[in-house]
Amino acid sequence: MHLARFPRIRLAHLPTPLEPLPRLSQALGVDLWIKRDDCTGLAGGGNKTRKLEFLLGEAWEQDCDTLVTQGAVQSNHVRQTVAAAVANGMACEVILEERTGSKAVDYTENGNVLMDRLFGAVIRRVPGGSDMPAELERTAEEIQARGGRPYIIPGGGSNAVGALGYVDCAREIVVQADDLDLKIDRIVTATGSAGTHAGLVAGLAVMGADIPVLGIGVRAPKEKQEANVLKLARETAALLGHPDRIRDDMVVADCDYVGEGYGLIDGAVIEALKLAARTDGIVLDPVYTGKAMKGLIALAQKGQFHGETVVFLHTGGAQGLFGYQGELEGTL
Ligand SMILES: *Cc1c(COP(=O)(O)O)cnc(C)c1O
Repeated sequence: MHLARFPRIRLAHLPTPLEPLPRLSQALGVDLWIKRDDCTGLAGGGNKTRKLEFLLGEAWEQDCDTLVTQGAVQSNHVRQTVAAAVANGMACEVILEERTGSKAVDYTENGNVLMDRLFGAVIRRVPGGSDMPAELERTAEEIQARGGRPYIIPGGGSNAVGALGYVDCAREIVVQADDLDLKIDRIVTATGSAGTHAGLVAGLAVMGADIPVLGIGVRAPKEKQEANVLKLARETAALLGHPDRIRDDMVVADCDYVGEGYGLIDGAVIEALKLAARTDGIVLDPVYTGKAMKGLIALAQKGQFHGETVVFLHTGGAQGLFGYQGELEGTL
């Protein structure tokens, strides 16, 4: 794969640990391990930090001075992007979409938003359903008109360059598993803007490591999610020089656990948050990993992972919990 071919700015604490979850394994009857990408370090960590290493590498190569990105109000991606900009002497302008419709003050001001403001980001908020790619373009044009040199990072940092971060994570997981003599039967991850899922699939395919990846959707329906991931996995493999390595059947998303919609939680998500916290002391988040764990628990209870060793990719997001205090009140 030779990732050193690509420009990269180091931001993350790597490798992140690959650890057993003994008490959660016992509770679910599955040999469950966790890849701790909640511990990537930057601004509290999370999966966007790996993508940002390659995205900032490209921004640096293009001599840009201002990062521009977008996300939901409680975006972990925006938090990590803002911190990456600060730490590299760049400006950052972000657009927050009021996607969930929540007006709760914790949601609109606490958690990730509080940290965005702490890092000094220039923040603009737009209503849910806004054309976010168009908002990014407009902001970049304004920066250019003022003499700045913007670098646009798409939502979630999910393009082929960003997905290289998860190609590297796939490599890391395989190396760690080999060192531990651990035969992995499946990797389970939340899948949203698709870069994480696509990067893992592309990395494993290019390495020839035959480990299936199950993405648990947090927003789009199955067909759309799988199409997005497949397209990006192919683009990522092409960037690595192996466009033909991705078979359609390598991309599997289960989108039955989205519930009411993106960023909206239900009782099963809260039960998943509580189970992870009260077995192995793991803090999941309400929007992504809590939903992925809700799916993993339900599938384990159906016997889907019988006899398997499963690695759960913890993609971070605990900072977002502080935006959901109201929803959790009375359930703990
Ligand atoms: C963004 C995010 C995801 C989803 O990753 P994608 O690459 O957007 O699919 C999962 N978990 C957390 C905590 C995130 O912030």
